[in-house]
Amino acid sequence: MSNTLEGKVVLVTGASSGIGRATALALSKAGARVAVGARRADRLQSLTQDAPGEMLALELDVTDRQSVQDAVAATVERFGALDVLVNNAGVMLSGPILGADTTEWTRMVETNLLGSMYAVHAALPHLLRSRGAVVQISSTSGRAASAASGVYAATKFGVTAFSEALRQEVTAQGVRVVVIEPGFVATELTSHLTDPAMQAAAKNMAESMRTLQAEDIAGAVVYALTQPEHVAVNEILIRPTDQT
Ligand code: NDP
Repeated sequence: MSNTLEGKVVLVTGASSGIGRATALALSKAGARVAVGARRADRLQSLTQDAPGEMLALELDVTDRQSVQDAVAATVERFGALDVLVNNAGVMLSGPILGADTTEWTRMVETNLLGSMYAVHAALPHLLRSRGAVVQISSTSGRAASAASGVYAATKFGVTAFSEALRQEVTAQGVRVVVIEPGFVATELTSHLTDPAMQAAAKNMAESMRTLQAEDIAGAVVYALTQPEHVAVNEILIRPTDQT
């Protein structure tokens, strides 16, 4: 893949809000043709209207392997190729291990880990053809676990492990793998927390610092994807300056 995004075809999962939405817009602004996937189709429709370039809205549930395969196929059918997969869809349902609602664990593993694996599996034949790239939105929780983040961190550590194996399998064929690890970004992510203590902690954290904005992460994605072909930016850790 060359170092311009002009005309490139990108699929962004989890593009109906937050980092995915901002990334889709930044890539569109940089000249890419972008397919955007998520479950909230109404949000995607309004995103396509805000986009400066051609954008395709795809109803997508990453926990459903067939839905992921269909989204990749629809992207390729519409645009004729796939150059970049941005694996961004995710949920964070933090809480202590003792007494946890394990259906929340299932949701996190199925969305953050298995969902992103399904997307790589479906996209890879096309990415090998285009010598493209995979961008994995991991987290600082993919580098260090902490109390009450056990399962979320496990999914993000898993993303890192999978990404490194993938990198070793495809880098010789020109496919670049990028892992982005954001710290606290002001998005809807914490609004899904069900534990009141976790909700309060997230609110305190947000109020205690100048958080990152989704556009800050979008900028990192664009940076990684616009390096010369021989440069593989494999990992970007990006925290709010105020976050210890
Ligand atoms: P948001 O909640 O704003 O966005 C999450 C996105 O994921 C939404 O578009 C949502 O769309 C989508 N999504 C969730 N479940 C599914 C599913 N089953 N199928 C398809 N799409 C799904 O949060 P963020 O923008 O913050 O999160 C984006 C990524 O960034 C996540 O992977 C998160 O772990 C990661 N991250 C976020 C940080 C933060 O502080 N905000 C820090 C570090 C990493 P819909 O509900 O419409 O399906």
